[in-house]
Amino acid sequence: MGERKLALVTGGSRGIGKACALELAKNDFDVVINYAGNTEAANATVEELKALGVTAEAVKFDISNKAQAEENITKILEKYGRIDVLVNNAGITRDGLFVRMSDENWNDVINTNLTGLFNVSQIVAKTMMKQRFGSIVNLSSIVGLSGNAGQANYAAAKAGVVGFTKSLAKELGSRGIRVNAVAPGFIKTDMTKDLDETKILDLIPIKRLGEAEDVAKVVKFLAVDAAYVTGQVLRVDGGLIV
Ligand code: NAP
Repeated sequence: MGERKLALVTGGSRGIGKACALELAKNDFDVVINYAGNTEAANATVEELKALGVTAEAVKFDISNKAQAEENITKILEKYGRIDVLVNNAGITRDGLFVRMSDENWNDVINTNLTGLFNVSQIVAKTMMKQRFGSIVNLSSIVGLSGNAGQANYAAAKAGVVGFTKSLAKELGSRGIRVNAVAPGFIKTDMTKDLDETKILDLIPIKRLGEAEDVAKVVKFLAVDAAYVTGQVLRVDGGLIV
């Protein structure tokens, strides 16, 4: 029997991250999900993952805290010996008009949605370089490509994810590591539960909001199947921007 492959999905307890974790488990990956605070949701997701016949566990740490990220990922590596796929999914919103945006709301979003990727990816990339194998998929957003009123912090972080993705792809490609991003449009999760659907549907050629699974399938494609694809940002937005 060959060695088992391991995927680490940040923010894998709910929403898009959970769907990514399940999709990778369906493709026979053992999965470690990370989460910030909602232990009940994380444990429920772990049970769903285990029901698919793979090894799964949830690890709580704040990706915006480098010491916490390093300590916990080091433990994961000691236990499993490898990370084949990293999905940098965890993210938050703190929306508000720019002129009134607090320093705290700016910093929280940048620290989680951009610096969090630095914190997690650096230690994982070192392992992938030793393995000479690995694949990283980052969650950007269409907002990072087009901007959005009321989301200057979020758009800046998600645009940063695009530059980060392309730079890592160039730096790590020769070590057998691919790095890509997805840019979802409006996806039905807790993050978007307060959106007024009727106002958005007109803008979407496919005439529905996305499901978390719609994104997860593309993440799995980039992470696993797309062997000659790196440095790309793939929109998953029902045609919102073409
Ligand atoms: P969600 O339902 O709000 O779930 C967020 C996940 O991230 C949860 O598992 C949460 O953990 C975790 N998390 C938040 N802050 C964290 C931190 N500091 N450290 C570790 N984990 C943290 O979000 P989602 O809608 O699935 O979004 C997932 C990703 O897709 C995000 O990067 C988001 O920006 C991006 N995205 C979403 C949409 C959309 O329409 N939903 C569109 C474009 C891009 P807890 O459960 O413990 O809180």
